[in-house]
Amino acid sequence: MAPPTPAGAPEKTDDWEAMQQRFDDAAGLVDLPAWIHRILRTPRRVLEVAVPVRMDSGDVEVFQGWRVCHDDSRGPAKGGLRYHQDVDAHEVTALAAGMTFKTAVVNVPFGGGKGGIRVDPRRLSPGELERMTRRYTFEIASVIGPNIDVPAPDVNTDGQTMAWIYDTYSAMKGELLPAVTTGKPLFLGGSPGRAGATSSGVVTCAREVFAKLGMPIAGSRAIVQGFGKVGAPLSFLLSSAGMRVVAVSDVNGAIYNGAGLDAFRLSDHATQQGTVVGFAGAEAITPDEMWKLDVELCVPAALSGAIDDKVAETFGAKVIVEAANGPTTPSGDLVLADRGIHVVPDILANAGGVTVSYFEWAQSRQGYIWEEDQVAVRLRRMMEDAFAAVWTKGEELDISLRRAAFVVAVTRLAETISARGIFP
Ligand code: NAD
Repeated sequence: MAPPTPAGAPEKTDDWEAMQQRFDDAAGLVDLPAWIHRILRTPRRVLEVAVPVRMDSGDVEVFQGWRVCHDDSRGPAKGGLRYHQDVDAHEVTALAAGMTFKTAVVNVPFGGGKGGIRVDPRRLSPGELERMTRRYTFEIASVIGPNIDVPAPDVNTDGQTMAWIYDTYSAMKGELLPAVTTGKPLFLGGSPGRAGATSSGVVTCAREVFAKLGMPIAGSRAIVQGFGKVGAPLSFLLSSAGMRVVAVSDVNGAIYNGAGLDAFRLSDHATQQGTVVGFAGAEAITPDEMWKLDVELCVPAALSGAIDDKVAETFGAKVIVEAANGPTTPSGDLVLADRGIHVVPDILANAGGVTVSYFEWAQSRQGYIWEEDQVAVRLRRMMEDAFAAVWTKGEELDISLRRAAFVVAVTRLAETISARGIFP
């Protein structure tokens, strides 16, 4: 079943269809009972809201927003909030379903949720962004909450966005409820280690898969697509692990230096200029040229659908660790598999963020802040355990890591759903 396509929005069904295909495949592999299959094919709740905002000019603009709970049988729905001009109900629903499978792979007590507003946030002033975020929070307040659905940052949202949601929701409820969001700033009850958690989990997966394949991390070359909250710390962490990050890209273009980019200087440049383009320690290349580079590791850390069958045909890296959600299309997967390129799938590879979000949620409920070391050690252990479970399942069934990750997730979900049963 597909969620409704919003009026006036282009029908972008790819992400949702890709998610359904991958779930159906895993359901077949584990012989999933038909009634559980039907439940997980249907998002539990798709809320569409209008978000009227008084702009600085005095005019009122109305934005479309969504909050989707795909499944909450294992715990409160959990997932990010995306601000992007291409967001629609299909994309948000696919991302929410991805969260259901991701939280199950990494075995944290959450379900899957996601939110989005169809807006290009670059054209909004800070005041307009704040008013839009607060009004959106008001509109979705009945379906979020520490025990219901817990938003977090995603593309074009950050700790400040989460602070506004926390403040608005608490004002509406008349009590402070920091566990309503994660990814909050540290001084507002955020968790130590949350900012780099997704990137750090990606590096753990890269280490694990390289070890399994007998490839050394030190001295290997990497490329990273996207230089945002995930891609920027990742470039630094990969360099610190001894890799040469030879190319990175963002929405404005790609840059290359065969000897390895200086992560510190690049980060300063990107902070000042708002883009990696124009960095003095590199030459400009096209995004197409970047995909073809002969490297050991590629980390897509931008948007979905980046690696389709066409890109896959001339793709240069030996291993992909998916930091972004849905960066490889199903047809891309087939070509990569034919060419012997290994893919650590998004629902495993980028689960570090939701894992530390779980730690933050627990801390916010406890009112007790953990030490950064404690967070790092637990994150690494949980990512290693999740990787091991997926790798073992892949070997047992002789299937790709993506299919194995879905099998691990669907098996855990089936156990919970069948134990809880159906109300009434
Ligand atoms: P972000 O908004 O901070 O950064 C996105 C980056 O992608 C920016 O550098 C942007 O310029 C770049 N980009 C956009 N379009 C591009 C294009 N066509 N080519 C190259 N680069 C492009 O977002 P983020 O939080 O870093 O998220 C990146 C991806 O990781 C998303 O798919 C997100 O869903 C996923 N993810 C994020 C987290 C998290 O903790 N933030 C957790 C899990 C998964």
